[in-house]
Amino acid sequence: MPSSVRAGSLKDPEVADLFFKEDPEKLFSDLREIGHGSFGAVYFARDVRTNEVVAIKKMSYSGKQSNEKWQDIIKEVKFLQKIRHPNSIEYKGCYLREHTAWLAMEYCLGSASDLLEVHKKPLQEVEIAAITHGALQGLAYLHSHNMIHRDVKAGNVLLTEPGLVKLADFGSASIASPANSFVGTPYWMAPEVILAMDEGQYDGKVDVWSLGITCIELAERKPPLFNMNAMSALYHIAQNESPTLQSSEW
Ligand code: ATP
Repeated sequence: MPSSVRAGSLKDPEVADLFFKEDPEKLFSDLREIGHGSFGAVYFARDVRTNEVVAIKKMSYSGKQSNEKWQDIIKEVKFLQKIRHPNSIEYKGCYLREHTAWLAMEYCLGSASDLLEVHKKPLQEVEIAAITHGALQGLAYLHSHNMIHRDVKAGNVLLTEPGLVKLADFGSASIASPANSFVGTPYWMAPEVILAMDEGQYDGKVDVWSLGITCIELAERKPPLFNMNAMSALYHIAQNESPTLQSSEW
């Protein structure tokens, strides 16, 4: 195994350049947990140099599968460094401390999924339209650069205080299109992603499918098939016609 693939190794200058050398404990204060994902937690924090509020995603690369976790961190940081668009989360840099990467980014109030949870009712059509509009502009940017997000869902569409829409969580993204791996969150996955192992490649259109599912999620609070287990849902998506809204009120 090349040493640069080993967890925490900064021997490869290209990898070393991805990280700032300062100690993040000294740069950020007031950390408060605001979100949780498969990798760890996301925190509200304040940059002591500028007093700016930021979000910090802490990603550990210790314990089991540390090399894989390290590769995932490098992949996400490389991706974030490449993208710059008003509808994708602004990346502010990454720091390392005690086998944990601190990924600093612009702070958002929460996700569209948080909105559904707080309101306890579906969003209105104008709200869904505004969120979809912002998400589509972010996706158009990614797709024009031959990238695929691959995990579009309300939980990964964030909103800022003034109401701007930001695509987030590039942990599953592909820097090349077409792609062929089985990646995403089951209920939001496009048929061609589910079938990619048998039938080959897919492109940015899979994000448009997931955004369509996200529209249904915003209108009905859950994506289609959410009452099924994930395996059955995958089978169903691959075999059946595209889902539609349940209620005729739309
Ligand atoms: P998943 O569970 O989809 O795999 P993940 O582990 O990759 O998620 P993220 O989606 O990046 O993690 O972040 C988890 C949660 O943290 C988000 O759903 C959101 O609520 C919160 N969050 C992430 N980034 C920010 C941010 N920049 N500002 C505010 N909250 C954020």
